[in-house]
Amino acid sequence: MVTTSAIYESLVKTVGKNYVSNQKEEQYFYARDGGLMPAHEPDYVVLPRTTEEVQEIVKLANREKVPIVPKGAGLALTGLVIPQKGGILLDMKRMDRILEVNEKARYVVVEGGTTHGALKSYLQKHHPDLRHSIPDSPPVATVVANVVIHGQGRLSQQHGFNSDMVSGLEVVLPTGEICRIGSCSVSSYWFSKGPPLPDLSGLFLGWFGTTGIITKLGLKLYPCKKIRDVMLFLTDRVELVPDIMLKLSHTEMVEDVTISAQPLPLRYKGTFWIMAYITGDSGEELEFKRKMVWDALWGYFESRDLGPLSVSPDMKAPLMSMPSKDITRFADVAKGGGFQYAGPITPIEKFPAFIKKLDEVAKKYNVFYASTTRLIGAGHCMMFSFSFSFNRANPDEMARAKEALDECSKFALEEGGVLWKADLDEQKMLMAKMDPNTLSLMKKLKQLLDPNGIMNPGNWEVK
Ligand SMILES: Cc1cc2nc3c(=O)[nH]c(=O)nc-3n(C[C@H](O)[C@H](O)[C@H](O)COP(=O)(O)OP(=O)(O)OC[C@H]3O[C@@H](n4cnc5c(N)ncnc54)[C@H](O)[C@@H]3O)c2cc1C
Repeated sequence: MVTTSAIYESLVKTVGKNYVSNQKEEQYFYARDGGLMPAHEPDYVVLPRTTEEVQEIVKLANREKVPIVPKGAGLALTGLVIPQKGGILLDMKRMDRILEVNEKARYVVVEGGTTHGALKSYLQKHHPDLRHSIPDSPPVATVVANVVIHGQGRLSQQHGFNSDMVSGLEVVLPTGEICRIGSCSVSSYWFSKGPPLPDLSGLFLGWFGTTGIITKLGLKLYPCKKIRDVMLFLTDRVELVPDIMLKLSHTEMVEDVTISAQPLPLRYKGTFWIMAYITGDSGEELEFKRKMVWDALWGYFESRDLGPLSVSPDMKAPLMSMPSKDITRFADVAKGGGFQYAGPITPIEKFPAFIKKLDEVAKKYNVFYASTTRLIGAGHCMMFSFSFSFNRANPDEMARAKEALDECSKFALEEGGVLWKADLDEQKMLMAKMDPNTLSLMKKLKQLLDPNGIMNPGNWEVK
């Protein structure tokens, strides 16, 4: 076993001394994320620039059995980038190039640390007819990490999870080989992550960086219509929300459907704010879509169970921004406040039961909530957020928020949901409920890919 200073020197040799640190300041910063999971320091922080540098670092880590944790912006909030067993924290932010846009086959190839904000700006400037599915996380969130956790964004109502839109991968395996996945393994085109080949992307997507480091990603792009608008509806009949979502989806006219619920100010309590986004290349196209949505919901307007709301310009600006700029306002982040959400993926019929639970749990633990649900696929499922705020200066409130989240996650699992971007406690809940043969398959795959258990250890650890 080599000494820690020899490992440090090897890392310096690979990326240069400006991009390695074993100093307390960096260790403190990289020990935590914005959520509620306890901090744990890395031994080294490394910022690679190229796939070959990643490969060298992984080979070193594998040889010396040093843990290695890839990090995007750390905004998953569930501690997935906290180095549970120390080792090397690999900050991907220098691998931020946009390598190729194929306008005709409609995909982009980006490096492993490219941010959603950078991709959005690049497309707006150079390919204004194309767009990707932007999540509502802050713009520094990375494209790769978002698909690694099976994120969802503005095009998910139409096209499924953002990871369904992946069109190819380049991965550094835990044993150091560079491997291409999808059409790019046999062709210079990155149009498919699997079909018609065996789809090996599932060995990496959803694994939280425990099976390899993605250094390049192909992502599908979609038409960017010239005009966007939002239609806002209000109901106090929680039991009708699933059907309203289905009706909206059935029109095949809406880009995105989200539902917000929060108890304060009091006038909002018990009401559900349904946002339906529509797009068009002309006023006529937009008007047609607006009418289709209107017709689909007409019965509810007549029975007075649902009402349209006019959207003032002040309200419209944040609603239209991508990512949404006001989604975190309920947590006073600037003053040390934070928030975390459990976001189970679940059938949409569960909306009323989940809202009831959210309200109950918030009262029980005396925490404040705000919830935003997003429809995924044509009604196939939704992401329901049990989202609680807390103040970092108040450890008791943080403990209550974590207990509230855990209780909601347990409930969601019992109700048939599947936990999204699960923290360590939620991963245990999931694995305790999982079919034992599925679990055993996961264990075999992990051992095969990562025989020394170096990749983001602690996560998806099948006992
Ligand atoms: C206000 C707010 C709103 C949000 N809204 C949304 C939303 O609408 N939709 C949504 O999907 N999410 C949302 N999120 C959650 C999250 O921020 C996003 O999913 C984000 O894209 C995660 O990216 P990241 O770079 O922060 O990931 P990180 O937290 O850095 O990483 C997530 C996981 O990916 C792994 N990883 C990182 N890079 C690599 C790599 N190159 N190779 C292999 N593994 C890697 C990490 O080890 C970790 O396990 C929101 C978060 C906030 C704070």
